[in-house]
Amino acid sequence: STHSTHPVSYYHHAAGGKVLLGLKRKALRIVVTGGAGFVGSHLVDRLIARGDSVIVVDNFFTGRKENLMHHFGNPMFELIRHDVVEPILLEVDQIYHLACPASPVYYKFNPVKTIKTNVVGTLNMLGLAKRVGARFLLTSTSEVYGDPLQHPQVETYWGNVNPIGVRSCYDEGKRTAETLTMAYHRGAGIEVRIARIFNTYGPRMCIDDGRVVSNFVAQALRKEPLTVYGDGKQTRSFQYVSDLVEGLIRLMEGEHVGPFNLGNPGEFTMLELAQVVQETIDPNAKIEFRPNTEDDPHKRKPDISKAKQLLGWEPSVSLRNGLPLMVSDFRQRLFGDRKEVGA
Ligand code: NAD
Ligand code: UDP
Ligand code: UDP
Repeated sequence: STHSTHPVSYYHHAAGGKVLLGLKRKALRIVVTGGAGFVGSHLVDRLIARGDSVIVVDNFFTGRKENLMHHFGNPMFELIRHDVVEPILLEVDQIYHLACPASPVYYKFNPVKTIKTNVVGTLNMLGLAKRVGARFLLTSTSEVYGDPLQHPQVETYWGNVNPIGVRSCYDEGKRTAETLTMAYHRGAGIEVRIARIFNTYGPRMCIDDGRVVSNFVAQALRKEPLTVYGDGKQTRSFQYVSDLVEGLIRLMEGEHVGPFNLGNPGEFTMLELAQVVQETIDPNAKIEFRPNTEDDPHKRKPDISKAKQLLGWEPSVSLRNGLPLMVSDFRQRLFGDRKEVGA
């Protein structure tokens, strides 16, 4: 029988395996803030493919309509040009809150705006969640661990962040966003989820957005030297975007608030990354050393035991397997004549 007509609880019956008399689950209405960006657009593809109705809210600061063009004309898809720093009224079941520039080059460009986006933007989306009773998922970041004194990083680690450093608009902004999320959960009973995302790469990254994987790939394809900052011995752990999207959806649909680390534990120095890019694109690509940026974290690697255990999630695409998928997208956008962007 179908006592529940609320789309969210109805869906949980279906998700729990008790599919109701062969009826299909009711489509959810989902808002994805930052949905025109790199991660958001891949998430939207998955939500639309499973039959849900998606509203993207984006101000196009680092996102592009091209990332979503293939959904234009679909009545299940809607794109709103809107800045999350301003309030907005929508009727939805779930909120994936991604809006925020992720590349250091862009989040440092206007630090006050980055703080407003993380604090006021997140407050508005939590207010929306409270008003309509939606479930809210925050995309936080491994940056909340700062320059970590624990390695690998576990969710229970509180981090080592410089509150007045050049990265603080982003990392302290995200820490405040996590605080707001927990405060609405405890104080207003909102259903919330927190993901701490580690460095992610894949098709549709902005070609010149300044992050290391997109920089190296674009440089190798353009026959320019790969710019390694500092001594290149600092480490990062690189996750392919489809693994992240799977983790975000499992987190949203699951029963646990988090926070959960979502990242690939494979750890590389920047010199090792440059080597993988050389092997994948051009063995003759040169390496050029540049001064490092201020407060650059020395190492980063997720402990993903919690996500493995409670979400049944772990990444399946290694750097060596994921990189070629990104390279073909970049090749096409740099040299091809097709306008559309590969999935
Ligand atoms: P992105 O820059 O490609 O996408 C961010 C999107 O948010 C863009 O479409 C941008 O236009 C939009 N946006 C920015 N400010 C906005 C505002 N005020 N109002 C409305 N829209 C706004 O970045 P991404 O890599 O897709 O990251 C998505 C989310 O995941 C971000 O919250 C980021 O902090 C988080 N994250 C990403 C990574 C990663 O490696 N990609 C790592 C950790 C956390
Ligand atoms: N908000 C919004 N959309 C909504 C509901 C609220 O943008 O559908 C904004 C609202 O403008 C406010 C913020 O979310 O700035 C927090 O809302 P809440 O109701 O929690 O706080 P209050 O408005 O009582 O200060
Ligand atoms: N980096 C680099 N060359 C570049 C861009 C970045 O060596 O062209 C380094 C940067 O100093 C940092 C690492 O790569 O140590 C990751 O930087 P990114 O901006 O991609 O992400 P985040 O610092 O936010 O992890």
